Amino acid sequence: GLANATPERLFKVVFVGDSGVGKSSFMHQFCKREFRATFAATIGVDFQVKSLVVDGHLIALQLWDTAGQERFRSITKQYFRKADGIMVFYDVTSEISYKNVRNWITSIQEGIEDGTVLMLLGNKVDLLGDSEDGRVVTTKDGAKLADEYDMLFCETSAKSGRGVQESVRAMASLLREKE
Ligand code: GDP
Repeated sequence: GLANATPERLFKVVFVGDSGVGKSSFMHQFCKREFRATFAATIGVDFQVKSLVVDGHLIALQLWDTAGQERFRSITKQYFRKADGIMVFYDVTSEISYKNVRNWITSIQEGIEDGTVLMLLGNKVDLLGDSEDGRVVTTKDGAKLADEYDMLFCETSAKSGRGVQESVRAMASLLREKE
């Protein structure tokens, strides 16, 4: 099988978004398939490498978390350099995190090359009921913003795992199809 094979290709994917939207939790849920409630800022690792089979091809993803740098607004262009994909996160219960997506995209756009795959993720959907009523950021809001910047879009929960594997796979599939 493909389990011990060498990946055909490695893609760099970086996470951005306001502090607290759930990037570290998403990374942990994706890699370990579990929700961890607390992370010590100092043990925040820079990246994780994860192999997966996409459309019958073994590829590897190098997933970069900001390791808390966004709290100090110190994310440099170096962080985005040579990124094949960028995942921009907001929290569906936080209007400000949604509004800040535009600022994140602006700072990203200075540092990336054409062809970088962008994906918008509305995280923490487990905190909402089934109805759209009373939601701070609706699915429609998310989809509209994603459309504006030609991004993939997915609503996720790093807590329940909803959409986590699926969104990374959607990103990986598009990356593999490119070039
Ligand atoms: P980061 O600063 O973007 O890396 O965010 P963290 O992963 O540290 O998460 C911030 C807080 O939100 C922590 O208390 C997490 O446990 C919580 N959190 C993250 N993702 C979710 C989620 O999908 N659902 C819920 N209910 N809480 C979440």
